[in-house]
Amino acid sequence: MFDGPRGGAPAAVIPSLSPPPSSPGRCHPADVTRPRSPAESACRVAAADVDAEVTAAKVSAVDVLDEYTGHTDPGGAAIRRDLGPLTISKVSVGPMDNNAYLLVCTATHEALLIDAANEPERIADLVGSGPDRPELRHLVTTHRHDDHWQALGAVAGMFQTRQIAHPLDAPSLPIPMDEVVEDGDTIAFGEIELEVIHLRGHTPGSIALLYRGADGPHLFTGDSLFPGGPGKTWSAEDFGSLVGDLEDRVFGPLPDETWFYPGHGDDSTLGRERPSLPEWKARGW
Ligand SMILES: [Zn+2]
Repeated sequence: MFDGPRGGAPAAVIPSLSPPPSSPGRCHPADVTRPRSPAESACRVAAADVDAEVTAAKVSAVDVLDEYTGHTDPGGAAIRRDLGPLTISKVSVGPMDNNAYLLVCTATHEALLIDAANEPERIADLVGSGPDRPELRHLVTTHRHDDHWQALGAVAGMFQTRQIAHPLDAPSLPIPMDEVVEDGDTIAFGEIELEVIHLRGHTPGSIALLYRGADGPHLFTGDSLFPGGPGKTWSAEDFGSLVGDLEDRVFGPLPDETWFYPGHGDDSTLGRERPSLPEWKARGW
């Protein structure tokens, strides 16, 4: 099921973080999420062609664009940003625009995947091949909904990963978890640490993952937070729980520049969404 907020996400320019150091800044320099004009789309294709020529690391069937916009198309190219110690690649897989995120520690080439949602071969392509392929050792599932784990067994088998989820959702997953994580725990890979934030409401065991980058926090929200609202809930009690956790554990402690990466669709920032919190609470979804 698609679990985004009803009514869809507003498509508007969001505040930008500093462009990642390696970003060539082609076409438009800021990292923004917005509808692209035909001219921009053409520019994007041109940028992809340039990447194909100059990026020696392009070794897979999934094109990877080093211009991080926060938007990916189902079946389309992946996008990658370089935060220095960490690179983040985003690809849309499956029929419901599910996002899979590949995080690679620059120093050690150890990698972690968030949501092996679908299309295991494309995910494997994203990881890459050859001597420079990062070592994918960790596989985090943000929550139990089946559109987020269609490729879990296949990717785990291909890469011999360590499977990680929250204990309340782990029993609903198709393969056993090697590690369960609670609110406040950390997941380490290479020299990178992710903090686990438990957000109750979309499912009982939904988690978000926080990376505190030099340029600001980066937050992977699963289906608990989207541009335009919290994830879907099925009762007033669950909605209250999710909004309460989002206020207490996300919007409260984290600054506006926090960039977040949802389980479907485009990225946003907490600063862009924060003014809408009262409206979300008033409407009840
Ligand atoms: Zn979901």
